[in-house]
Amino acid sequence: MAERISEVLQKKLSDRLSFYEDLGISLFYKDRSAAWSHVGSSRSLQQHSHEETTLPKPARKPEPMKLPPSALRAAPKGEALLKVTGPSLFDAVNKISGDTLLKIREDLGECTRCKLHKARNKIVFGDGNPKAQLVFVGEGPGHDEDMQGLPFVGRAGKLLTQMIEAMGMQRKDVYICNVVKCRPPENRTPEKDEVSTCSPFLLRQLDAISPKVIVCLGSVAAQTLLETNRGISHLRGEWLEFRGRKLLATYHPAYLLRNPSAKSEVWKDLQKVMAVLGREVKKGKSA
Ligand code: URA
Repeated sequence: MAERISEVLQKKLSDRLSFYEDLGISLFYKDRSAAWSHVGSSRSLQQHSHEETTLPKPARKPEPMKLPPSALRAAPKGEALLKVTGPSLFDAVNKISGDTLLKIREDLGECTRCKLHKARNKIVFGDGNPKAQLVFVGEGPGHDEDMQGLPFVGRAGKLLTQMIEAMGMQRKDVYICNVVKCRPPENRTPEKDEVSTCSPFLLRQLDAISPKVIVCLGSVAAQTLLETNRGISHLRGEWLEFRGRKLLATYHPAYLLRNPSAKSEVWKDLQKVMAVLGREVKKGKSA
């Protein structure tokens, strides 16, 4: 007789499947959302009301994909991974066709997927041009961001704004978001489970915006997207690749507030970005 799995395990499996679904991976389940329409327990049901519960098909069904077994590898600890060459979990994820920031925000909902929701005031989804050529990815909201629901509006944010303006752009020209959308208590570094729960939404944001360049601000953003444990000082300043896009990591503005002498390094990094975006690099100008 088949053994029943415990409710805790069922919940864990369900959460894990939801995570893969958020990534657009559908190879090991069949039309789970159709099944959900009868069960009525999925979070999608809470967001896509009536229509979807009565239709046999989900509104956005991820494209079928081939996922190589190696795609599910864990990032090797301490591995020198300056170029992500093999397929990673992120690489293997298909783009959700027609995905938009609006849909992603709707799917995120009033998120309670990880423990960060408990202490947050506002979700900080992201802000800026939905068709930006340049996206900045930070770590997670701080106090000011949590209060306003907008990314990088505190002290570090003011410095980021100056950096963007020094590049000859305005905040509204670029898109700014974070790896985790809720403020970690006491501004601690987001934990692994929080990052893995939230990063599918970041991935979808990046795919939906489809920028020419992604700039990772600090180690959490760089390590998350590159699936590496290497430190920011090893990763910064080099052109890397993320799902076919150019990615450059640099120091976080909050680090620059504590270490102003590192600003010149960041400015060099941003000049590289400007060159790729076809913007004139004015000699001597820096943030
Ligand atoms: N630091 C971040 O990483 N993100 C913000 O939005 C603000 C500060």
